[in-house]
Amino acid sequence: MKSDIEISQATSLAPITEIAEKINLSFDDLELHGKYKAKIEFDALDRMKKNPEGKLILVTSINPTPAGEGKSTVTIGLGDALNKIGKKTVIALREPSLGPVMGIKGGATGGGYAQVLPMEDINLHFTGDMHAITTANNALSALLDNHIHQGNELNIDARRIIWKRVVDLNDRELRHITVGLGGPINGVPREDGFDITVASEIMAILCLATDINDLKRRLSNIVVAYTFDREPVTVGDLKIEGALALVLKDAIKPNLVQTIYQTPAFVHGGPFANIAHGCNSILATRAALHSGDYVVTEAGFGADLGGEKFLDIKVPSLGKAPDAVVIVATIRALKMHGGVAKTDLSAENLSALKTGFSNLAKHIRNMRKYGLPVVVAINQFISDTDKEIELLKELCANEEVKVELASVWEKGPDGGIDLANTIVETIATEENNFHSIFSRDHDDLNEKVETIVREIYGGSEVVYSKKALQQLASFKKYGWDRLPVCMAKTQYSLSDDPTKLGAPSDFDVTIREFVPKIGAGFIVALTGDVMTMPGLPKKPAALNMDVDEKGNAIGLF
Ligand code: ADP
Repeated sequence: MKSDIEISQATSLAPITEIAEKINLSFDDLELHGKYKAKIEFDALDRMKKNPEGKLILVTSINPTPAGEGKSTVTIGLGDALNKIGKKTVIALREPSLGPVMGIKGGATGGGYAQVLPMEDINLHFTGDMHAITTANNALSALLDNHIHQGNELNIDARRIIWKRVVDLNDRELRHITVGLGGPINGVPREDGFDITVASEIMAILCLATDINDLKRRLSNIVVAYTFDREPVTVGDLKIEGALALVLKDAIKPNLVQTIYQTPAFVHGGPFANIAHGCNSILATRAALHSGDYVVTEAGFGADLGGEKFLDIKVPSLGKAPDAVVIVATIRALKMHGGVAKTDLSAENLSALKTGFSNLAKHIRNMRKYGLPVVVAINQFISDTDKEIELLKELCANEEVKVELASVWEKGPDGGIDLANTIVETIATEENNFHSIFSRDHDDLNEKVETIVREIYGGSEVVYSKKALQQLASFKKYGWDRLPVCMAKTQYSLSDDPTKLGAPSDFDVTIREFVPKIGAGFIVALTGDVMTMPGLPKKPAALNMDVDEKGNAIGLF
């Protein structure tokens, strides 16, 4: 089998104008970025709102393991397969961040014969959205520091600035820094730090904003610091929401690309699901919903993170719940959840599969708590044995959940026909009683955290640090105590300890700190030792990357 990039480079792409025509968009509706990428103009987005709304399929997964789950691969392959069975389908995905591309995770454009293209561009600079978000974020830092340097009219306590700088790289050296050194002409010295761009509140805002006015309103609400009297200071107080929105005026427009099989795909916005809310932009999902009869979209990491946040954070702003949820699992990953080492995954191991199934079972039950129809997709690997597949189907039957094999990585749309048919049938026949797991408007922050920990993670108690308890008290004073909560937690485990695989129980979750993201409209709860600026591994993926004399990418997976 060829590598992802070899398959991608051997594919001849249709001009993006042809892909746009498939969803009734003309040349005038597009802002072209070369031959194969385009942004959608606001007038077109407005016009599309009059089209009927398609069915929404949310693809999520078990807790990821180093064995790989292939969630993006299944999302893309399912979109292609639905088109193949005659259902007009559009895909909505997040855009990759360069940090993990250079690090360990690989790209976010799918794999094998289920990819969005041009994968090199999408995985590198794409249409510049990440850079625009980085610039807007850091413009805010510069304007904030300048305000203090120029006399600090707002009485900002420089020790209580919560706004950080960002860069779209994994760079642990920048987690904690000191700025403003060098005497009075070089600013006011203070402690600062960098997060990765995808953790920026501006990324979350771009993904949740419904138009430019909403973007401006949300930017204006960002809390950047506190005064010496402990009152919140916002972007609106600094009067710079207009400038920040201006920097983002193109980045907010959804990007259109295509799959290997020329299915239209909106790829836009990319918050991580472990430290942010983990879903592509509302504008992209909306554009997709108004362009196809079916929309396949993905939420980051497992159903405990991206899945939960899609349902609890994105759905209220999107104004539409999924019509079905697909949970992706691989036999290899389930065996890892059952205690098998990565090096031993190719050998058949039925008892480990049975033990590791507990992870999938927990996610199935969790998604059903929201009243949603669930289908399991087994992303098939060549090493899976017949007996393992049979056992997994049996275990799914015990949970009374439909299960289909997906071999889209190897066979493209042909490998996803059964899954596509099952999903269409599920949406047509199964009841959808979507509801939240808590009372969004009435439950306090701590009640929301506790519900997520008990109901979704399967934990016992929530332990709050002294700082977190003080924050809960002060948030009440500021009127933030009923906002949605965005959990920042390791993706590897249902608990806050990455080594606890399977479906752990009898564990507590520690909330170290809360971070208000009032512009995004939620409060981030930092659990365990999760970092908002990742580091690089010992052997980063960057070591394999190169470019030839014609500018072709080499070694990009
Ligand atoms: P996720 O979205 O879960 O992070 P991806 O879909 O991005 O996973 O896939 C990660 C990597 O695994 C990709 O390089 C892809 O080519 C590979 N992969 C996915 N599915 C399969 C499969 N069935 N067999 C072999 N490799 C696969």
